[in-house]
Amino acid sequence: MSPAPISVYNTLSRAIEPLSTKVPGEVGLYVCGMTVYDYCHIGHARAMLAFDVVVRHLRHRGYAVRFVRNHTDVDDKIILRAREQGIAPLDLSAKFIAALEEDLLGVGLRPPDITPKVSDHIGDIVALISALVEKGHAYQATPQDGRAGDVNFSVASDPEYGKLSGKKLDDLRAGERVAVDGAKRHPADFALWKAWNGEPTEPHWPSPWGEGRPGWHIECSAMARHYLGDSFDLHGGGIDLVFPHHENEIAQSECGTGHPYATHWMHNGHLTIQDPGGEDIKMSKSLGNIMRIRDILAEVPGEALRCMFVESHYRSPLPYSSDRLTSSLVALDRLYCAKDVAFSATGEAEPKAMGEPGLDAFDIGRAFPERFYAAMDNDFNTAEAMGLVFDLVRAVNRLGNDRGARSKAGKILAPARAAFAIIADVIGVGAMEPQAFFDEMKVKRLRAMGRSVDEVEARIAARSAARAAKDWAAADRLRAELDADNIVVMDGAAGSTWRMRVGD
Ligand SMILES: [Zn+2]
Repeated sequence: MSPAPISVYNTLSRAIEPLSTKVPGEVGLYVCGMTVYDYCHIGHARAMLAFDVVVRHLRHRGYAVRFVRNHTDVDDKIILRAREQGIAPLDLSAKFIAALEEDLLGVGLRPPDITPKVSDHIGDIVALISALVEKGHAYQATPQDGRAGDVNFSVASDPEYGKLSGKKLDDLRAGERVAVDGAKRHPADFALWKAWNGEPTEPHWPSPWGEGRPGWHIECSAMARHYLGDSFDLHGGGIDLVFPHHENEIAQSECGTGHPYATHWMHNGHLTIQDPGGEDIKMSKSLGNIMRIRDILAEVPGEALRCMFVESHYRSPLPYSSDRLTSSLVALDRLYCAKDVAFSATGEAEPKAMGEPGLDAFDIGRAFPERFYAAMDNDFNTAEAMGLVFDLVRAVNRLGNDRGARSKAGKILAPARAAFAIIADVIGVGAMEPQAFFDEMKVKRLRAMGRSVDEVEARIAARSAARAAKDWAAADRLRAELDADNIVVMDGAAGSTWRMRVGD
């Protein structure tokens, strides 16, 4: 299959433009990963999920994607945290890389093809800095206090500096006049190589400029070059990285290699936290409101988080609140109800034999792929795509309300089954067996309420015993108590089953 044309918003041109790749049908993608010194929070999850969907969709549409996402394992924050804990910085980062991978798998992220670490690429970094020094784009500051000077990038040496963020060098000078560092020629100059301070616990490597370690920005330029070449197709990250991080990446790479860096730049919007009154509040350690991925995954299935993220376009800001997560959980529950109907239905009834619900479920299912691809091919518009998903879910559930649906509507629901397969592959929601999802919901929602599956099943068994003894008053009371805990009991020929009710 030849790949479908895809449009993408490019921060560099500030316009939606056709995705053009160096090699037709192949995409090289670099995404800035995390600085690994703590557990990931939902802001990280949003950014990582945005690019997970980008990669899934590109592959689904016929592209061969080489996806690189780095781990920053050499950084001031890591060094500081490791010192507090009395362990080696690279041991600390190794621990949090493992935690990050586990958390992201929990949100259904497919691992990147390559996850390079800074500490494995010091040679590439030194080579790129050497090229910058040779070409006059970088200089070593004069030694101070017996330490070698840092090697800084000279922003004034790059006539194109500021092209991504739109910032002007003169404005940067004016804005930072107070904080001018004597070792820098221009206040916006930034460290490519930081001289070692002699502290044995601080990671350091030999270089032509003395022992030291890389500054933050250079690592991405060096690792992207190592795995994707001097020029590649797509570069992604959070909107907060546009300046200075991505601006600096472009400057280093283009001045160092003499070639254009990434063709397209994609940035995901911020995730903000809302208080119950709907006001945005900052997520910060001091406010004690850091929402860790693993804490959320203990209480809701990972797909609920995915569902919440994709209901907004990746470029939009996303105000998070627990109400919003709950409503995504409700929506997901309905999606699985529909999937259950679609995949369990048998029978060869024609759409019109099941009236308007039959016709709707059939028509909406048949029209789904074209509409869904149109939304997703246009700058990965998951918000619009999810609108289509829930149109489908509503139509299937409406048909499912017909008692005859499961024994008659197998043929009518064939397009819906195909649509659910597309949704699972591209969006990553509805990817589970419905029963496995309902079981996970039971365990996690009960845990969130401080209850357990065993306890609920004991209460249901007590109700069944009351019914067997024809003690209807006790049976009704037990059922009402369960219902008050959002446990819905369904009596059938084979006994009583139950499910968790969410959100209503
Ligand atoms: Zn980066």
